[in-house]
Amino acid sequence: MTANEIRESFKKFFEQKQHAIVPSAPMVIKDDPTLMFTNAGMNQWKDIILGTRDPEPRRRADTQKCLRVSGKHNDLEEVGHDTYHHTMFEMLGNWSFGDYFKEGAIDMAWEYLVDVLKLNPEDLYVTVFEGSPEENIPRDDEAAKYWAKHVPEDHIINGNKHDNFWEMGDTGPCGPCSEIHVDSRTPEQKAASGKTGRELVNQDDPQVIEIWNLVFMQFNRKADGSLEKLSMNVIDTGMGFERLVRMMQGKHSNYDTDVFQPIIKAEQDITGLKYMTFEESEHSENSEDSEQEKINIAMRVCADHLRAVAFSIADGQLPSNAKAGYVIRRILRRAVRYAYTFLGQKDGFLYKLIPTLVHEMGDAFPELKAQQTLITKVIKEEEDSFLRTLDKGINMLNEAMDQLKAEGKRQLDGVQAFRLFDTYGFPLDLTELICRENGFTVDEEQFNVEMQKQKERARNAAAVENSDWVNVCGDDIATTEQQFVGYDYTEYNCHILRYRKVTQKKNEFYELVLDATPFYGEMGGQVGDCGVLVNENETVEIIDTKRENNQSVHIVKQLPKAPSAEFMACVDTDKRNASAANHTATHLLDYALKQILGDHVEQKGSFVSPDTLRFDFSHFEKVSDEQLRQVERMVNDMIRQDIHIDEHRDVPFDEAKKLGAIALFGEKYGDKVRVVRFGPSCEFCGGIHATSTGRIGFFKIIAESSVAAGIRRIEATTGQDCEERLYQMEDILKNIKSFFNNAKDLQGVIQKYIEEHDHMKKEIEGFQAQAVERAAQRMVEKARMVNGVTVITTVLPMAPAAAKDLAFKVRAAVEGSLLCVIGSHDNNKPQLSIMMSDDMVSDHGLNAGQMVREAAKLIQGGGGGQPHFAQAGGKNVDGLSAAVDKVIELANL
Ligand code: ATP
Ligand code: MG
Repeated sequence: MTANEIRESFKKFFEQKQHAIVPSAPMVIKDDPTLMFTNAGMNQWKDIILGTRDPEPRRRADTQKCLRVSGKHNDLEEVGHDTYHHTMFEMLGNWSFGDYFKEGAIDMAWEYLVDVLKLNPEDLYVTVFEGSPEENIPRDDEAAKYWAKHVPEDHIINGNKHDNFWEMGDTGPCGPCSEIHVDSRTPEQKAASGKTGRELVNQDDPQVIEIWNLVFMQFNRKADGSLEKLSMNVIDTGMGFERLVRMMQGKHSNYDTDVFQPIIKAEQDITGLKYMTFEESEHSENSEDSEQEKINIAMRVCADHLRAVAFSIADGQLPSNAKAGYVIRRILRRAVRYAYTFLGQKDGFLYKLIPTLVHEMGDAFPELKAQQTLITKVIKEEEDSFLRTLDKGINMLNEAMDQLKAEGKRQLDGVQAFRLFDTYGFPLDLTELICRENGFTVDEEQFNVEMQKQKERARNAAAVENSDWVNVCGDDIATTEQQFVGYDYTEYNCHILRYRKVTQKKNEFYELVLDATPFYGEMGGQVGDCGVLVNENETVEIIDTKRENNQSVHIVKQLPKAPSAEFMACVDTDKRNASAANHTATHLLDYALKQILGDHVEQKGSFVSPDTLRFDFSHFEKVSDEQLRQVERMVNDMIRQDIHIDEHRDVPFDEAKKLGAIALFGEKYGDKVRVVRFGPSCEFCGGIHATSTGRIGFFKIIAESSVAAGIRRIEATTGQDCEERLYQMEDILKNIKSFFNNAKDLQGVIQKYIEEHDHMKKEIEGFQAQAVERAAQRMVEKARMVNGVTVITTVLPMAPAAAKDLAFKVRAAVEGSLLCVIGSHDNNKPQLSIMMSDDMVSDHGLNAGQMVREAAKLIQGGGGGQPHFAQAGGKNVDGLSAAVDKVIELANL
């Protein structure tokens, strides 16, 4: 079976088992402060599991793009060195939210692997949780009992808490899990090892690996560490697609399957180097640290990382120097290093593999195909810029090694190695490699100390502590879905459902969840509302609203004195209206950009606050002033038409598409969406908008710039801010006019002034040149002869550049040996210039640079230059004559 067929068979199987087949969520997570990337299939169901979203349909299945390069799951360092961990991979999963539990999950997994895919049951092992006496959790006998229906006892293995107890985080849903492992060793390997598959499960054997994990969520962990029963049992399973394909295709490395082979073939074609598959390696002399194995690892790294980077760009996360963008940049740089060091690729390489990737995966993931140009541009630009950095780093390392050599040392200190890592992205192994090639070692211990220090700094900066939610009204979290009324109201009667304390960098605040709220939580680039909760007894200020797990979370500095009382939740409408106008303006801007620049314009990010709006979009060159003006005219025209909002809530996704609404790549949409239309502009959007475009007032672009290769940014303002700017500009203009006697034709007058200024500048330069010429003549006439050397000294007021000019004029005018010393001053700043003929250097052994440094002490200054000409500046004008004399004395003629 091909990879594509296997993916389809999984979906078909679970569809037949009454599961709704749902799309993969984007790999990049935008609205969750606790997670940057999807690292498991369950991420997108977090709110259902936490009870804040309707669980229907209760059976679901999908294939989810995952990335494991940061946080709890970080496999980055393994990738390429082993053959079964990837940065980005697909996780096949099926879920039951309060429907079937352990027995159903186990039966279905078994049926799929053995009856449908025909994997050999003798090679399959399963694990069950052995229990934890300290926590008072018994062994998962239930799971073991259901497994025993399918496998013999000696294929069921007890597993510890690390492998067999899953937790969402420090707090929240958790429960035991059962993994399915496959013994994929060849018959020869089995015979040679003398060990059974059972003995190798969870022992890091590359041929006995986990492919599927079935998680049985049945507990909720509280902040004090204790467990309570979850109100709804959840099944969450995850199977590594690439690992499954490998088993199905009878391979022993994920990279030998049709998921990776086409990319690896392209790598071989470009580099002219050979990749060795598992079989080929088995039958060769090739040892683990041979040159060939380094090539193999590098090719695996590049093939893997290419996918991760391309998919994140398609999902809207570009490489950058902060947060998620930085994680992507690091992955890309890791690939560039391997290609540079082991595949001899000194120029961009990864971007050349993109056509193959798109050819192979573009059908299953249309976002790749649609954005091929952008992905290529971004990757190429990143590669080029990192290769330049790499060159700089190598130069720096070479200098450091020269220094060490001069000092007779053989070890690079760890602080320096860490600086290379931190600023040039040189990981320790690369620094070590280069050092080793030059006969040096690296102080690894010190490096690790520095690394640890940095990690601690980062941890302290980010540490957030959440205490448990305290329920105020109603105690069953699962039954209390929050009602959002903010599209229709800015004031609403409400009760606090629950609250918790959050501590961040010693700051304390509280988060409140209301039963019904008009407050918009920060989402989709629009900032959250602020306002107050009031009743006759008290007023509590809401300083911000965040969106978490499908609900608005209100941030307050202090808890209400009576949290269970009824409140009126009132949004600050000035700010809200200003944000809404800006949000509507971004929709009009998006529309106008597509009209003026073309259909390739794709939104790549936006930010909307009461004061400003920012819109990032794909476009491959600078937007010209004329185009910007056209865009502004079009937007302002739509504002004047005062188009009323046409809003559709809870529209099924497909119907919304039929309405012509624009969906964004990398955005997560539910089954039902909201569509916002202003005349011809029609978008999927959950944000707060102006009731009609006229409320925007006026729209003005403030700046257009580049944020990354292929991505432009427009910053703009609207309404009152535009008005203020207009007043400011008028005031400035008035001032300027007053400088020019309120001339009518201001432009013409300024133009004339500039021309006059240029003309005068030229004239002055001419006069100065003449003056220098005359001074040179006079000096030559007054020269003394000392032992056959023409000696000229003078002290005079003159600009530094003119003094230099003068020195060269004198030199040109004098034949034979010359020593000329000029002490000049300009605005009370002294300057010393020494000019000599070449024979004074070669025959008399003089050096103007050394002499000027010595003499400049008398003017409290310093300088230098060439052997025959040098200059020094200083602070003490009074010492100038003495300094000139000092030079003559030093010449010792
Ligand atoms: P392992 O111990 O092999 O790292 P895991 O315990 O981290 O696996 P889970 O978190 O249970 O794995 O993920 C579910 C499944 O996803 C695994 O059974 C495996 O098939 C697959 N998987 C996990 N990590 C990776 C990865 N980095 N690359 C490819 N597949 C993976
Ligand atoms: Mg793992």
